[in-house]
Amino acid sequence: MTDRLYYHDSFLYDFDAEVREVTDSPRPALVLDRTAFYPTSGGQIFDTGTIAAGDAKLRVTEVADADDGSVVHYFEAEDSTRHSFKPGTRVHGQIDATRRRDHMQQHSGQHVLSAAFIRLYDMPTVSFHMADDYCSIDLDTPALTKEQIESAERLANEIILENRAVDIRFVTRDQAGKLGLRKLPPTERDELRLIDIHDFDLTACGGTHVSQTGQIASVLLRKVEKVRQGWRVEFVAGQRAVATARRDFTTLTEAAALFSAHIYDVPQQARKSLDEIRSLRKQREQSQEELAAAQAAALLAETAETNGRKLVVRTLSDGDLNFIKLLAQKVTRLSTHAVAILATTSPQPSVVFAQSAGQPFDMGALMKETMAKLGGRGGGSKDLAQGGIPSADGIDANLSAIAATLAA
Ligand SMILES: [Zn+2]
Repeated sequence: MTDRLYYHDSFLYDFDAEVREVTDSPRPALVLDRTAFYPTSGGQIFDTGTIAAGDAKLRVTEVADADDGSVVHYFEAEDSTRHSFKPGTRVHGQIDATRRRDHMQQHSGQHVLSAAFIRLYDMPTVSFHMADDYCSIDLDTPALTKEQIESAERLANEIILENRAVDIRFVTRDQAGKLGLRKLPPTERDELRLIDIHDFDLTACGGTHVSQTGQIASVLLRKVEKVRQGWRVEFVAGQRAVATARRDFTTLTEAAALFSAHIYDVPQQARKSLDEIRSLRKQREQSQEELAAAQAAALLAETAETNGRKLVVRTLSDGDLNFIKLLAQKVTRLSTHAVAILATTSPQPSVVFAQSAGQPFDMGALMKETMAKLGGRGGGSKDLAQGGIPSADGIDANLSAIAATLAA
């Protein structure tokens, strides 16, 4: 069992210890007789830092609990350095204080927030998750309103502002049962470590916490989403809250500049732009229809009948696949005996084959044949087929050859 120094002092960032064990399997790791490094547990993530023996220094990249109660420090080091660490070696551990302080702010912020949801709405927290950028709690509740979120956030920040003492107490399981804990851990252990936020929250927890709520600085609630057994609430505390608000502001400022508007007017401006886009799209569809109808009429007028049908063959240099499809449909509907063999060279080389209802050819089959020849992909029905081709080179000659077969 490793003596866990962080149990008694979360602000202990460096310590002396003795190496108990060095291993390479499954990856290089150290076990010490005592440590201030926090191993991932109870939703809080591990500390990082260094362990030094004289001039030799290991970089601790991950810390975990082992089944036998010891704390395992995974490290990175050159072979020459690691040979300085053997069972019995005296070492000095140094924890990354910035990372630890951030974790204390997030984790303590979680205690305050979870207690706020209990106090106000009797909504218990069933799990806590800490990631590198944000944290979340899952609340056991069928519903969660915007007002409830804002009220819990307000209460949590009031408790932070009041700078209440956060004490660590050790009690027996029997004593804990009489104290009215927010959450009693399921473990069989007889001694429990309690985190006591003065007159606000009492819960059993093995994590690292601030000593006064003021050190949490602030709690900012963010996204909420429905999860299987309740609602997930994302939050950030302390410096993360400031960094997140800073990032939100930068993003919003960028968006506001695009609209030449104040940041608070961005949603209104975005809605206005979307409405305009929708209206323009509608207008464009309307003009495409009109343009296609006029072009179809002109094409039919200038095409002479061959074998009792009009064979319209044309390559457009601009017009997307949708437009030539529309054009082919107009040609084959305006005339009862037309066949349209159309292509466009840009923006994407494409072809469309169509015939008036009742004409004898199979456009789908013809398209498959053509695609096999041109190396494209496409298909369709008996009366209408489309395909995309990798290059428009020689497309006119190909269309003429197809027309010649149909005219024969
Ligand atoms: Zn805790």
